[in-house]
Amino acid sequence: MKLRPPLTRRALLRGAAGIGGSLLFGCGRGGCARSGPLEKRTADIVVIGAGLSGLVAARELLKAGVGSVVVLEARNRVGGLTISQEVSQGVMVDGGGAWVSPKHTRILALAEELGVGTVDAAESEGNPVFLFESVRVAGTGRLFTRAEARELRQLRDKLEAMAAELPAGAPWDAPRAAEYDRVSMFNWLSDNSSTVWGRRDIELAIDWTFGCQPHDISLLRFVAAVKSVGGLERLMAISDSQDVSLSGGSQMLSVKMAEMLGDRVLLGSPVTRIVDHPTGPVRVETERLAIECGRVIVAMMPADARRIDFEPKLPELKAGLIKNWKGSPDYKAHIVYKTPFWRNSRLNGTAVGDGVVVDFIFDSTPASGTPGVLVAFGAGEELPATAEGRKEVVTQSLVSFFGEEALDAIHFVEMDWLGEDWSTGCASPLGPGVLSKYGPALRQPVGRIHWGGSDTSAEFDGFMEGAVRAGERVASEVAVILRENGVIPAPAKSG
Ligand SMILES: Cc1cc2nc3c(=O)[nH]c(=O)nc-3n(C[C@H](O)[C@H](O)[C@H](O)COP(=O)(O)OP(=O)(O)OC[C@H]3O[C@@H](n4cnc5c(N)ncnc54)[C@H](O)[C@@H]3O)c2cc1C
Repeated sequence: MKLRPPLTRRALLRGAAGIGGSLLFGCGRGGCARSGPLEKRTADIVVIGAGLSGLVAARELLKAGVGSVVVLEARNRVGGLTISQEVSQGVMVDGGGAWVSPKHTRILALAEELGVGTVDAAESEGNPVFLFESVRVAGTGRLFTRAEARELRQLRDKLEAMAAELPAGAPWDAPRAAEYDRVSMFNWLSDNSSTVWGRRDIELAIDWTFGCQPHDISLLRFVAAVKSVGGLERLMAISDSQDVSLSGGSQMLSVKMAEMLGDRVLLGSPVTRIVDHPTGPVRVETERLAIECGRVIVAMMPADARRIDFEPKLPELKAGLIKNWKGSPDYKAHIVYKTPFWRNSRLNGTAVGDGVVVDFIFDSTPASGTPGVLVAFGAGEELPATAEGRKEVVTQSLVSFFGEEALDAIHFVEMDWLGEDWSTGCASPLGPGVLSKYGPALRQPVGRIHWGGSDTSAEFDGFMEGAVRAGERVASEVAVILRENGVIPAPAKSG
């Protein structure tokens, strides 16, 4: 086995990869140019994807006594949908997953174990700004008429009642799953509401959580998300003052886990093929490596697995799940000002609107009070193709919310997930007919291939918490089999 140079924190965080950097191998979404015979290796378990889920799984397996684990990561950095960006000297922000709720117990425990602290959400004194149908309101927003407020309550009650019917983590098993999955949220809201404002909060929750329009998501998918986070209130609370972020950025969790895993993590190593015939070991191939192993864990969004060839072909349900899974690529930008100027006008930096390219904005100013930082979200597809063009339209949106002072940014740091080769999307809005039909294949192992990634989590799927829980679940699923086969010892009995 060839020795690899030690991975430094800088390489893990920023992507200055050592051996296997994709530049060496010309890898991109379109594939890689093979430049010689495959290097052969063996391992007990191969984990594909060094996002939170894959790294947690690898760590748990080592803790369980597995002798050799290799993590193959396509990018030249770890963290997947989490990425820390520096917006000014020593001030880190999250270009991907950021906020953690007090209910996210597994990621909070992981952070504590890894020595990563938490940072409270920015001060939220002052008023939000709303911009709907070109009308700007700074304050509590438009007051609902009684009829609209009643309608919103009724819509919430109906959705909560449907969520209560769903079995946890298996919405497809609900007696009315097929019925709920036939209809889009657009049609359901049209059939169940008569006022635009009555249903607006729910449309906002769809946009915020899934980055999509109501006709792009089925009723079953939406209600399953309500169940998964523990209630509609949580999806509608666009920002929650109890939320925290992770000190140094949430990518720090993956960086620390990768440091512990050391040269078991191979960056710049996109997996192209998994061969799992009943006889012989499983074979996992990249453009330069072939690893023979006992089992493999695929830890990514189902849609991301479209870039891997499976031999033999996956069963119809699993192949259909991967083919029909939808990821929505978000856009997130941090705009830095000398001071949080909006606070002088008694605004709290929260802004929500329609008809603008960035429709959700929050104050992300550090606790020290400077620099002032706004974080803005939008739909990747609606933004210009060039970085300059995006900066221009995002700034103009900020002006429409906060006035001309928004032009005086000193720094602009963006994360355009649409342009990322190895992530299909940031959230998973599934249209009618997908979840009820293909959902049962989400976690079901296929031969010796096991499935991780946040979307497979029974709770908080699509969140970093879901990624951690899925990593723990898939590691334990594999460990049980290894114990049964006598590959690893049974855990010592306590007492
Ligand atoms: C803009 C944005 C905002 C978000 N906000 C929040 C938030 O505030 N709070 C929250 O909890 N969550 C948030 N999330 C979601 C959260 O970040 C994700 O759910 C979580 O990080 C997913 O982790 P994962 O390990 O399951 O998958 P990923 O992070 O996607 O990891 C999968 C890994 O697999 C790799 N990979 C893909 N294909 C291959 C291949 N063929 N070979 C090898 N490797 C491959 C990828 O490069 C990636 O590193 C947000 C996400 C985004 C993008």
